[in-house]
Amino acid sequence: MLKKETPSRWIYDYFSPYEVHKHALKQTLYHGHSEYQEIVIAETECFGRCLILDNEFQSAERDEFIYHESLVQPALILHPKPEKVAIIGGGEGAAIREVLRHRTVTKAVMVDLDEKVVECAKKYLPSFHNGCFSDERAKLLFEDGRKFLEETDETFDVIIIDITCPIEEGPAYKLFTKEFYDIVKQKLTPQGALSVQASTVSHTALATYTVISRTLKEVFTNVSPSVAHIPFFAMLWGFCLASNGLDPNQINKDEIDRRISERVDGELRFYDGITHQALFNLPKYVRKALKEQTHINRDNKPLMEQYPGRA
Ligand code: SAM
Repeated sequence: MLKKETPSRWIYDYFSPYEVHKHALKQTLYHGHSEYQEIVIAETECFGRCLILDNEFQSAERDEFIYHESLVQPALILHPKPEKVAIIGGGEGAAIREVLRHRTVTKAVMVDLDEKVVECAKKYLPSFHNGCFSDERAKLLFEDGRKFLEETDETFDVIIIDITCPIEEGPAYKLFTKEFYDIVKQKLTPQGALSVQASTVSHTALATYTVISRTLKEVFTNVSPSVAHIPFFAMLWGFCLASNGLDPNQINKDEIDRRISERVDGELRFYDGITHQALFNLPKYVRKALKEQTHINRDNKPLMEQYPGRA
């Protein structure tokens, strides 16, 4: 039997200084710096192409559908008729791809700080955006997401926050505070929903996730944290759904499947009525940590993660 050679090139995803997930590297497709961050697009043996920003692994070709369907679909399915949607961040184009599957959506505005990330995604990550930037309902803007929401006169039925984690000196930490969520609330229609990517959920790193959830509770009446296992990250990943009236635990699985078949183009690969229940039914230790978290993240002392490694 032919024995496969041990790969000689690896990239490292540090979870902490003491724990690392390493991926065999096929090739580096792009490595450069924008005005805001370091950008790497690599092709790995197991997960295909992936995006890495400031050493943080963002998403990978083989399983990004799990991350992006978990982030986008519950909010849009829960909303009675989502028409106008804003995506803050989401540089790969996969979050807006998921939004544009919905036939009810008439306008999807994506606001990413970094034009270079989107340029790279257009060139090297075609399966992520799947050509959706040329959909006539899509509008692409390059500016800070907080500034956009502060200044726009528009309101949205759903706002998706798909930005990088709040690392020190990174471009995103001001978009995780109570003051930011106050702005978001003003830009949502009365039945509107917010969905936030909420960082890692592991026994060694629960702080960001639980603080995001606690902070959202200061602003919204319904806050529902969820988790999905993302094989590329080798751990659970957190999301938070917030609104003033929509409750993901009050919709049954048949109604979710009915709305999917009525509203969504193409076949979802991860999300349906059964997966919805799995997303919002959290393990006991996670529920306990959420309950015990008291910290509210504020502009004058924003939460900042220390990124432990180098890619
Ligand atoms: N899946 C990701 C993760 O694991 O954190 C997030 C996806 S996406 C690639 C993150 C995007 O957020 C990047 O394209 C980055 O340019 C954008 N971003 C960061 N800070 C931002 C800000 N202040 N306003 C708008 N976009 C921002």
